[in-house]
Amino acid sequence: VSGQKHCQVCDQEDSTWELYAKGIPEGEGSFQLLRCRNCGFGWTDPAPAAHEIGKWYPQVYYGKGNVRFHWALEWLVRIFRQRRASEVTRRTIPGSVLDVGCGRGLILGTLKGKGYMPYGVEISDHAAWHARTKMGVNVHVGDFMAAPYKPGLFEAVIFWHSLEHVLQPVKAIRHAAMLLKPGGLLVVAVPNSESLQARLTGRNWFHLDIPRHYFHFGTASLRKTMEDAGFRIVNSAHFSFEQNPYGWLQSLYNALGFDFNFLYNWIKNSSSRLVPLREYPLQSLLTLALMPILVPIALLLTIIEALAKRGGTIELYAVKK
Ligand SMILES: [Zn+2]
Repeated sequence: VSGQKHCQVCDQEDSTWELYAKGIPEGEGSFQLLRCRNCGFGWTDPAPAAHEIGKWYPQVYYGKGNVRFHWALEWLVRIFRQRRASEVTRRTIPGSVLDVGCGRGLILGTLKGKGYMPYGVEISDHAAWHARTKMGVNVHVGDFMAAPYKPGLFEAVIFWHSLEHVLQPVKAIRHAAMLLKPGGLLVVAVPNSESLQARLTGRNWFHLDIPRHYFHFGTASLRKTMEDAGFRIVNSAHFSFEQNPYGWLQSLYNALGFDFNFLYNWIKNSSSRLVPLREYPLQSLLTLALMPILVPIALLLTIIEALAKRGGTIELYAVKK
């Protein structure tokens, strides 16, 4: 635990301790969440070193052939990716588009079909395989800021649940501004660590995901990061059917004392599952039994937090001035 006080977003040194992370394997030390009192930005402390973060992304994290979930959920995942792609096509004209943390390249594959030139950045060569071979994406494996792109090349840059995984998110957004054309679109989606689900479930919150998430944004700190880099916010969304109901559901199970993220482990397909299900018959049965009660509660809470603009995730759409 290093106790880093400095806030990357607002430059103040006024941070406070918030929680210790749950679900860290024994012998891996402990991680705490610190938060800036001035702008609400949070960070994982200590931050795992860049050369050590790989061990938190085992190959099972991605699954065989990069397929992580049961086939029915995989079908849903594809529908959600198409929704993400349409958020770009309705705001830009076809040109070069960069997805930072492109994973399997599903967003870029869809955009390619609509006439865009797809570029992606991934830290994992294993995850990039699918994007490159199945989606025909030009993938840079490694650090975003070291990728050899010309300034002003891109019509759009996307960080879809990837900015919280980057060691220097403020610099990364400034770098994105440099790579975009004037008037180009920046899309950033992150978990909202000031959401109702984050606040009410604390260290049981599913989307906290420490230590893979180095940083923890709220609406104010994300807006400030983007505006300080020369962007004008044009739209924001606080409702995500893809992320938010599940965020509530898994966090409620976690808070009820089930093994941490047990359900998430369960809905993954067998190749990416970390623990065989049959070893936990009682928890499996109880998880199923509670579902008819917890699913409606999770959906209701998702609607309430979105109406309060405190949804479990934030999506901001901005243009370069
Ligand atoms: Zn701050």
